[in-house]
Amino acid sequence: MDYLVLAFYTFQPIPEPHREVKRWKRFLENLDVMGRIYLNKDGVNAQMSLLGAEAEDFYGWLLKDYPKTEVKVHRCQEHAFPKMTVKYREQLAAMDREFDLSQGGEHVSSERWAQMIEERDEDTVILDVRNDYEWDVGHFEGAKRPELKTFREFPKLAEELAKVRDLKKTKVMMYCTGGIRCELYSCLMKEEGFENVYQLDGGIIKYGLEKGNKHWKGNLFVFDDRLVVPIAEEKNAVISQCSQCQEKVDTYYNCANMDCNALFISCLACAEKMKGCCSSSCIEAPRRRPFEVTENPKPFRKLSFEEKQMLKDASSCQSTQ
Ligand SMILES: [Zn+2]
Ligand SMILES: [Zn+2]
Repeated sequence: MDYLVLAFYTFQPIPEPHREVKRWKRFLENLDVMGRIYLNKDGVNAQMSLLGAEAEDFYGWLLKDYPKTEVKVHRCQEHAFPKMTVKYREQLAAMDREFDLSQGGEHVSSERWAQMIEERDEDTVILDVRNDYEWDVGHFEGAKRPELKTFREFPKLAEELAKVRDLKKTKVMMYCTGGIRCELYSCLMKEEGFENVYQLDGGIIKYGLEKGNKHWKGNLFVFDDRLVVPIAEEKNAVISQCSQCQEKVDTYYNCANMDCNALFISCLACAEKMKGCCSSSCIEAPRRRPFEVTENPKPFRKLSFEEKQMLKDASSCQSTQ
């Protein structure tokens, strides 16, 4: 079956967001759709997978009320999300404060972005506005690995950059997966005093659809069941390696130790040897999920009630033996 993975956000005032959540739920109930959609008074942020045959219905419905929305589309063979969530959320993207988005960086097309990469000089900073583990499997040429545990620490990085860089001369080129993080964080860079701030319009996803792998190394980390995808038709060479044996792979696993759950890159053989754990201490941990041998591991999220119950039963069996 043909599914489409859609990513879009739109900043358009929604006067009654809670009512709008209900309206979205009612409409989506009748479609074969999974994903996560957040709404609030400022707009919508959505990632979802949808049966291809129903795409036209959905677009028609969406664009009627949100005509300026730009939807980025990938194809895939099955749903990329395990469930459907539509809800009101205080912040559309993980960000602890609000910004006046009209004060953000200049939007740059994929074409111009590629050109800016070619013409970059010592006054150019290419800023990857993502987590380090996202950078590891793929990034733009010239972009440094983000030195952040999570990109929520971004304000600190902005402040530090402003201390060591010329605020007038520096050209800050910012990019993220779909564009929404840059809408917010480019405001922050401007607040820090940087005068030349640029954001890649539509993010890496749109860039890949328009420019392919040009100036892009590796592949793209995504927050759904696919985990790592090519940005273009053609899969790019893998740039990351197995954390155990250093073989070139870009398969992510969540550590089988439920109290760790860290994402780590591993080849299948090492993952099996390590029982799905990120380290030898995690292999010894008491709360460990059974490791399932598969070429395409899915991200591990919170356990459902039934799964928790099953694990509890399993461990109590063992202790009575
Ligand atoms: Zn390995
Ligand atoms: Zn671990």
